[in-house]
Amino acid sequence: MGEPARDIDRIETGPAFTQADADALNARFTGVGTLDMLRVLFAENLLGEVAVVSSFGTESAVLLDLVARADPTVPVVFVDTLKMFEETLAYRDALIERLGLRNTSVVQPDPAVLAAKDETGLRWSYDPDGCCAIRKVEPMARAKAGLDSWISGRKAFQSVTRQDIPRFEIEEGRLKLNPLGDWVKADLEAYFVERDLPRHPLEAKGFLSVGCEPCTSPVAPGEDPRAGRWRGWDKTECGIHSPGNADADDGALPPGYEPFL
Ligand code: SF4
Repeated sequence: MGEPARDIDRIETGPAFTQADADALNARFTGVGTLDMLRVLFAENLLGEVAVVSSFGTESAVLLDLVARADPTVPVVFVDTLKMFEETLAYRDALIERLGLRNTSVVQPDPAVLAAKDETGLRWSYDPDGCCAIRKVEPMARAKAGLDSWISGRKAFQSVTRQDIPRFEIEEGRLKLNPLGDWVKADLEAYFVERDLPRHPLEAKGFLSVGCEPCTSPVAPGEDPRAGRWRGWDKTECGIHSPGNADADDGALPPGYEPFL
């Protein structure tokens, strides 16, 4: 794999990473544990300009803890739709402190766009796709604009369409790393226990997948974990992710599990 280009180089000369790079990285790290892989990737600067994009949702602590153990200076970006639960914001702050993450930032919707397209703040109630577009998709795209690669928390078990998620893949000219791609639910649960990680405060109240406050409700015992997202709407995805290559840490899944936002 060639040296990852920096921002301006990528803009002028094209993507820093190619599918061949992703293939080479997948081959190199076959059989290597997740934490060991992250340590090598960061130590050898194999990802170029990189960031974790996290929702600080119910499963986010696992990826964030792994990243913090590997290198707590790796940037972590939180996409704040300005419709988040207070509990999520408090959990985010507590988790950042607990894990010792040292380079965190927040992206929010463009105030001018909100004024023009969601002046009342109620767009979620009549056009959730449009609301997600201005509150999640656009800020997310802005957050990724200067990156060579980004780290997602998606897992194969989250969806029948996401089997065999590669650890490294190319998405819109960027390298996308899925460190938890081969983790199963039991792995996540075991990691929470082993590391004594705090749980999202809404999880105990039946919120097994937490998104924006207006669009998230608790689920009943035995119900699909994501049944509480956009309940009553024929909508299961927030649109952050490319068709056929969806999801970050929480947000673009068919009913099934915890995607990114
Ligand atoms: S999840 Fe709901 S409130 Fe959040 S951006 Fe999408 S439609 Fe808007």
